[in-house]
Amino acid sequence: MKRVCERCKQKPNMVSVSKMNNDIICVDCKTAEEVHPMYHAAMKAKHAACIAGDTNYPGLYAGKIYPF
Ligand SMILES: [Zn+2]
Repeated sequence: MKRVCERCKQKPNMVSVSKMNNDIICVDCKTAEEVHPMYHAAMKAKHAACIAGDTNYPGLYAGKIYPF
C-alpha cells in the first residue's frame, strides 16, 4: 500500500519525513518546504535534538498543519 502525502494527499512513489514536523511528505512537498524561511532553523533544531539523543523530536512545527 502506498503512503499518502500528508500535505497534498497524492500517493507518490517516494515519501520522506518533513524536517519541519513529522508529516510524511512527497518529493514535491519536500521541495516546497525547502524554500520555507524557517526551513534551515527547523533542520538545525532537528539535528541538534538528534545529537542530544532525542530521536522522538517532533520538529519545530510539530502539530501544526502545513502551510505554516
Ligand atoms: Zn505532497
